Amino acid sequence: MNKYTICLDIGGTKILGAIFDQEGNIVHRLKKKTRASEGVTNVEETIVSVVRELLSNFGISKEQVSAIAAGAPGIINDDTGIVLFSPNLPWRNYAIKESIERVFGVPFFIGNDANLGILGEWTFGAAKGLNHVVGLFIGTGLGGGLIINGKLYSGHQYKGAEFGHMILNVDGPTCNCGQRGCLEAFSSKTGMTDYILQQIRHGRTTLMAEAVSEGVFKSKDMRNAYEAGDEVMIEAIDRACLYLAVAAGNLVNMFSPEMLLFGGGVMEALGEVFLQKILAKVNAYCLPSVRESVRFAVAELGDDSILYGARALIIGNLGS
Ligand SMILES: [Zn+2]
Repeated sequence: MNKYTICLDIGGTKILGAIFDQEGNIVHRLKKKTRASEGVTNVEETIVSVVRELLSNFGISKEQVSAIAAGAPGIINDDTGIVLFSPNLPWRNYAIKESIERVFGVPFFIGNDANLGILGEWTFGAAKGLNHVVGLFIGTGLGGGLIINGKLYSGHQYKGAEFGHMILNVDGPTCNCGQRGCLEAFSSKTGMTDYILQQIRHGRTTLMAEAVSEGVFKSKDMRNAYEAGDEVMIEAIDRACLYLAVAAGNLVNMFSPEMLLFGGGVMEALGEVFLQKILAKVNAYCLPSVRESVRFAVAELGDDSILYGARALIIGNLGS
């Protein structure tokens, strides 16, 4: 009877929601603004309203749902469902599991978004069946995910695999985390936006001027400017890909994975362009003997990696 699962991807700016049927197909989806700046309760209210709207739009009852799961940025204890810390959401030691289960009366699971991204690709997508996979998810921030020996690795106290904060230049630009020269500061949309703003301050013109005037650009604007041959955008992408290649080389040498997987909104928009630019540089940063056994790939599930990872989290906990 309980045949649907509801999966959510909670971002700093938007929440994606999807209903999966028993065969694992997404049968309905919804997108809403997170309203992160308005406090703990409002983010939770948005989650509740996304779930409620999904149910009513699709005409299914709570009783037909076996579980709800979500991916969110930050350090999350996925055993207890407590969000210890989230950089973009106003949650500290927040018992979200308890709260959502009280509202809907079904099991609720939550995990780190990049961890769920790699879990989704590993269970249903490009990395299916592999034992050693490194994932880099390029969006507003830059998340990392790691499968070692056929298991998701989240580190001591769920704080591991933060590949976005791998420091690649100690004198580099300041990162959101407070350090300098992190991969995220060069290669995320935030890092590319900062580079474009710097070029505008130096008097250069770019098609991206409006897109960066109110914060981080949208992936769609990046693709349009790239396709129109915008010089500043192309430089920002080339710089992002150089540092992605350096980071990828380090990760390849450290873990010798079967696959290094690139996902997130940026890859969804310009995946092949990024992949080719990374591949053109990466060999210089890899030990040749390790490089030859690694495959570089773009995420297959695109923007849905985290939703599928949330579904994998439900299957892992409930078995269906
Ligand atoms: Zn950082």
